[in-house]
Amino acid sequence: MAFADPSRSQKRQIIKNKGGSPPWTHLEPSRHKSPGARTCQVLLCSIEYSLFVGDNIFDRLLRRVHTGFMETPDTLREAIIWFSDFEHCREFMMALRWPDGVVKCPRCNSEKVLWISKERVWKCYGKHDHLKFSLKTLTIFEDSPIALEKWLPAAWLLMCCKNGISSYELHRALGVTQKTAWFMLHRIRLAMQDGNTGGMIGGEVEVDESFIGGKARNMHKDVKARKIRGTGPEGKAIVAAVLERGGKVRARVVETRRKHTLQKPVRENVKPGSTLYSDALKSYDGLEENFEHQVIDHAIEYVRGNVHTNGMENFWSLLKRGLNGTYVSVEPYHLFRYLDEQAFRFNTRLDGDGEKISDGERFVIGMKQIVGKRLTYDQLIGKSKDAEEGQSPKRPA
Ligand SMILES: [Zn+2]
Repeated sequence: MAFADPSRSQKRQIIKNKGGSPPWTHLEPSRHKSPGARTCQVLLCSIEYSLFVGDNIFDRLLRRVHTGFMETPDTLREAIIWFSDFEHCREFMMALRWPDGVVKCPRCNSEKVLWISKERVWKCYGKHDHLKFSLKTLTIFEDSPIALEKWLPAAWLLMCCKNGISSYELHRALGVTQKTAWFMLHRIRLAMQDGNTGGMIGGEVEVDESFIGGKARNMHKDVKARKIRGTGPEGKAIVAAVLERGGKVRARVVETRRKHTLQKPVRENVKPGSTLYSDALKSYDGLEENFEHQVIDHAIEYVRGNVHTNGMENFWSLLKRGLNGTYVSVEPYHLFRYLDEQAFRFNTRLDGDGEKISDGERFVIGMKQIVGKRLTYDQLIGKSKDAEEGQSPKRPA
């Protein structure tokens, strides 16, 4: 699915000349005659700055962000107000899924569709099974009885809250059960999964690994007996990560700290010839064959000029703050989903020009990834044998 985003400088230009016509006004009028498509066209072609929120003298302009194809709220408060109206959810989802304003059947790509407002679905006139489709069809929201008015704020919370949001918090905030909230959050985490679509990373790259797991003294006697055998980091999960300085981090759960398991993610994700910075762990020996490998021995020093892994330390501290503070207890089986979540927020902190990405922009980046992904409850709890997209969950030994 291709989105024609104006560049950030173009967007800034638009914001500067508020009265000016945005780059998507040249879009051809919709050939589509369904009312849904018309709404979308209106949305795409008009920039309305005079929308007020609230109902008293503190009413103020609802500032909304240009995100290339539409406007979205810019703060959590605005998002909750904005998405409490189904029409706004519908406009948002339509602009997201059909940026050219023409609603197409997700199953056969036909434009011959009719909006049935009572059922909130479209009907396709093609010749196939399942003629009706909704805004949720073929997205992470598929088959969910939860309304978009709840899904969108939930996605906002998880995508934009630095330390994540627990299922208990979401359960109280949205008025859904805790189990539902837990399932919702995992589906949103699937959308946040990178899928390594950005190609290989390069330049200056930090490489590190970290142990993730509960402290033995906090564990119940039985849990401790099950998880901790012997001394050292046994019973803890190991996460290996590579980070391009000023760019993206990629993290995954690995089974051991042995050479082949730790070097595999490096070779898979980093362009040969890049500069690598790692600590003095023996498992990283040998990377100098393909990379410019610089080692910092943490027993002696933490920084030597440009040689350090401080970027990785920053990521670990954010990850652990989320895992220890917000989620408290994460099964190793689900750990990779929490890695996806933290990596998404980490990777959307700055844009290519080094400017901060706002919450509204981050939300749209994440929401663009909801299409074509699906996670059923059985898949989530490991009951289903269906292969799930992306990294398969692995229980550490
Ligand atoms: Zn169809």
